[in-house]
Amino acid sequence: MKILVVNAGSSSLKFSVFEGLELTLISNGIVDKIGKPGGRITVKVYKGTKFGKHIEIGNAVDHHHAFIKIVKQLKDQYIRVIQDVSEIIAIGHRVVHGGEYYRDPQRITKELIKQVKKMKSIAPLHNPKNLTCIEICKRMFPKALQVAVFDTSFHQTMPPRAFRYAIPDRFYKKDGIRVYGMHGTSHKYVAEAAAAYLGKPLSETNLITVHLGNGCSMAAIQNGICIDTSMGMSPMPGLIMGTRSGDIDPSIIFYLYRNSRLKIDEIESMLNNESGLQGLTGMNDLRDILSSMEKGDEDATLAMEMYTYRIKKYIGAFMAVIGRTDAIVFTAGVGENSWFVRSRAVEGLEHLGVSLDDDKNKSHEKGILMLQADESKVKILRVPTNEELEIARSTIEVLNKMQ
Ligand code: AMP
Repeated sequence: MKILVVNAGSSSLKFSVFEGLELTLISNGIVDKIGKPGGRITVKVYKGTKFGKHIEIGNAVDHHHAFIKIVKQLKDQYIRVIQDVSEIIAIGHRVVHGGEYYRDPQRITKELIKQVKKMKSIAPLHNPKNLTCIEICKRMFPKALQVAVFDTSFHQTMPPRAFRYAIPDRFYKKDGIRVYGMHGTSHKYVAEAAAAYLGKPLSETNLITVHLGNGCSMAAIQNGICIDTSMGMSPMPGLIMGTRSGDIDPSIIFYLYRNSRLKIDEIESMLNNESGLQGLTGMNDLRDILSSMEKGDEDATLAMEMYTYRIKKYIGAFMAVIGRTDAIVFTAGVGENSWFVRSRAVEGLEHLGVSLDDDKNKSHEKGILMLQADESKVKILRVPTNEELEIARSTIEVLNKMQ
């Protein structure tokens, strides 16, 4: 029994193949730069005699083409992750926006596809690519169960005081304008892993989860459920990200619309693709920015100050709303790997019972790590996220419900 997990981004396609009920990862990989020059497909195989990393250089013109390349690689004589598509019994798709309809992973039906299509207006950049991949998988794996796992689901427990915007009521009731939150699969996975690590039932654990990747978001988790989050109706608000601005005054958009030659789509693209760390420094990879900062680059230094200041501000706000805080949990590319970001984000919070141990924070040990100083009331954890495994688990859940 094999489960395929599909995570479609705007110009990339990530996949993982898990085997058995224990969900052993046997292969994963990515097709990047879809529709652009310089793309490649990377497949890693973790089991058998042909394990290793296999890279094929070549462009995929679109997501369909990318999928054909993935399946060809997985069936390759040499790699043999699957011998036939029928071995894949279920496919879990990451779907960015589930709106208010979907609190749990769902079997993909015609009705679900209709609903997700309807949400195109509130998730214009993400849901269409997810739907494309669902259609392709239905054609290429006709016998497999298709499951949608929504990024928004975990945040559906937020109370109205957190998810409503103070704009006229009709925009919520008619148009669904509210906070949905994203990265839910990651927040859920690390919250469960952190509670297990602390030896507490999740339902009695209060956490602040800080997902810092290319996209960045935080969740305030009280007694195991999300009660607030930093993203909004879209993945644009909140923390400063690789290429997204995070929180800005909405009047900036009107100002630019009236006073610059930018069209509304160009303003949207600027805020999504040219802002955040990219806008401040011309770079979006945090490793490059940190190395420029070390060389004394002033833009990089300011960008890191702003980036970590924004995280700290949200930590303070979320501590205020969840009350007793058991742990602050850092995860994703930056959160797991940058001691500097973690250290600046919690610096000066000793009066709130948060204090980091510098040596532990700089440890290169793998897996979950506890980073707080002995006197810290609040634990500080580094928890590697695993969204693909969480999607595979959810897919099995749906599969089991159907049997
Ligand atoms: P993700 O979206 O979770 O893959 O995270 C991507 C981000 O993680 C990029 O900005 C990378 O620069 C950052 N990242 C990855 N490894 C490190 C590292 N060792 N130190 C600092 N940032 C890192």
